[in-house]
Amino acid sequence: MKIGEFLRLARKEKNITLRQLSDLTHISFSQLGKIEREEHKPTRENSLKIAEALQIDQTILFKLLGYQHENIEKSHSVDPLLRYKVLVRDRFKCKVCGEGPPKVSLEVDLILPKANGGEIKPDNLVCLCDQCLRGRTLFIANEGLEKDLLFAKNKIRTTL
Ligand SMILES: [Zn+2]
Repeated sequence: MKIGEFLRLARKEKNITLRQLSDLTHISFSQLGKIEREEHKPTRENSLKIAEALQIDQTILFKLLGYQHENIEKSHSVDPLLRYKVLVRDRFKCKVCGEGPPKVSLEVDLILPKANGGEIKPDNLVCLCDQCLRGRTLFIANEGLEKDLLFAKNKIRTTL
């Protein structure tokens, strides 16, 4: 089944109009229509919003979309000491935008996600702010991990 058809059926089953779904998700009425007509593939972020509004299992939705569930490892899976060492190495600044606290909060993220064989070790860890991390998640969902890693390789120094 295609994603648009799947979403339309899920929405009808819940007796929710396109307009109501738009209000629930803050995604425009016209964009939702395009998604249901297969004219537009929803981003990972919008897929999550729709899944939440329609109470659909995210895993099913991502499968239909071809997105990997949980592409990005959360920082809390990193040992606190190692996390701290990475923060020191990266001078408590986001490696993408250069911002640090108190303006942004920092996360330690895996460069290559665990699901793709990435290990929790210094040369695979990087300090990112929450905003860049969010942007990165969306980037991977839209452009793919390979493209993301291409950028990361040139920009990130990862030795402790
Ligand atoms: Zn940043």
